[in-house]
Order: sequence, then structure tokens, then C-alpha cells
Amino acid sequence: MNQPWTIRKALFWAGGYLQAEDLPDHRLSAEVLLGSVLGLDRPDLVVLRDQSLDDTEWMVFQEKVLRRAEHEPIAYLTGKKEFWSLNFQVDPEVLIPRPETELLVEEAMRIFCSVPGPKILIELGTGSGAVAVALAKSLTHAEARPFLATDISRGALKTARENAASHGVGKKIQWIQGDWLKPFSSRFRWIDVLISNPPYVSEREMHHLPTTVKRFEPLRALFGGQDGLDAVRTILSQAAEQLKIGAWLLLEIGETQGKRILELAEQFHFHPSEILRDYAGKDRVLKACYHG
Ligand code: GLN
Repeated sequence: MNQPWTIRKALFWAGGYLQAEDLPDHRLSAEVLLGSVLGLDRPDLVVLRDQSLDDTEWMVFQEKVLRRAEHEPIAYLTGKKEFWSLNFQVDPEVLIPRPETELLVEEAMRIFCSVPGPKILIELGTGSGAVAVALAKSLTHAEARPFLATDISRGALKTARENAASHGVGKKIQWIQGDWLKPFSSRFRWIDVLISNPPYVSEREMHHLPTTVKRFEPLRALFGGQDGLDAVRTILSQAAEQLKIGAWLLLEIGETQGKRILELAEQFHFHPSEILRDYAGKDRVLKACYHG
């Protein structure tokens, strides 16, 4: 009879397999994947290392390891990613939230805290909803209108809605399907804070993205046209019609785009505007005030 697959043995196999395929963090990946299959945290795997996997667990684990060896992101394999110390459900319809995007949340909080009174906030292209949900959770006395969040993908909005519900902020966010600010009338200036992590990767940069990003994450959340700035231009021009005078725009940008984006912001009558750096010291967020 075959020896049963214990946790220890399964991890040893998976770590070796991923290492042979040249995947980074092979042991860690093996632990995270097995933990997700068994519903255990990583420290539990150590304590329970001599416990056996049943046939289904072993098969499901093997399948995930093989998919990881093809560079599928861990977050899609576990269905989860942490952002702003909160757990978010993710799937291939949505970009996996990145730590640097927390800067958008921080800056939006700063704006909310520094400018008194109720404000209307919209997030464009919400994806998993991580930014909107993090804000709705953090701004507890949220001066207190519901946020609006849009996405062109119905699948993304479904995931975002579920994330909001699981964090208890389902009622604080209204989800709207559509293309940037198009679903809204441009007859009024009504928005106080507009925030987005749009696609901004240029054609040339797309070629250099890691396989795990390029092959698996949604292209329309990443690719911003030839120079990477198609969505940025659209958002700036629509924002210039719908933002109140004195309203704030926060956009995540690519690390090489700061100078060009400041020029664009100026062209669309945003002033003052500045580029904020992330914790890796890279240009990451445009913060601009609509001057009119
Ligand atoms: N920062 C992401 C990446 O380089 C791109 C995100 C985006 O285009 N909004 O993978």
C-alpha cells in the first residue's frame, strides 16, 4: 500500500517541484497553497505536519501546484489577497490589489480629514473593490454620503459587492457599471473627490511584465494604450467636466509617468498638482486639485 501523503511530505514535494520550475518563493508558495486547501494557517502546518491528506485534498493541492508552476498568481489560486490589512476575495476578472495602491487610500483619507463637511467620492474602475472598501471601513464617520464605485466589468462589480458585504460596508457603497465617468451626467459639477487606479502600462512595458501578471491578470485593468496614458487622458477630460471647483483627483500612475502626467493635469486645468511617491520611493500617485 502507498504511504499516505502527510503535510510534511506534500510540502516537500511541492517545494521541490516549484523550485525545479524556477518559481520564486517555492517553499512559501507551497505552504500558502496547502494552507488554503486544508483551511489551515501556515503555523498550523508545522504543528500538524504528520497529519495525512485525504485523496481529494491531495488532488486539489497537486492541481494548484501545477497551475502555480505555470505562473498563475497565488492570489487567484487561493482566491484571496490582503490589502489595507483586510482580506479580499479575488478572481481573474479583477486586478490583484498591490501594496503600493494603499497610498491612494491614505491620501483619500487625508483629504477627507483635512476638508470638513460631507463629500461625494467616486472610485473609477474599482476592480475587486479593495480601495473603496478600505476607505469605507476606515472613514467610520464618513461625513457620510455613500461612496460611488464604477467598473466596466460586471464580473468585477459582483466580486467588489461581495467584498463590501463581507466587510460590513455593503450599504456604504453604490456600485455602478460603466466606462469611467460616462454613466454620469456632465451637466453638473458634483464630485468632491475622484479616485482611480486606472490601467497605465504602456505597450513597451507590457512586454516586460512578469508572466504571472501578463498572462493572468485582466488586460483591461493593466494596459493603457501605446504610451500607457489613454485611460488617464479620458479620466482627466471627463473629470474636468464633472468635478467641483476645488475638488481633488487622485490617480495611481506608473513610476516613469510623473512628469508627463503633471503636464496633462495642467492642460486640463488641474492646479496645484503634485506626484506622490510610494514606500519604494517611486512616483506613484497624482494628487491634483481642479482649478476650473
Ligand atoms: N502596478 C501594476 C503592475 O505593474 C499596474 C497596475 C495598473 O495598470 N493600474 O503590475
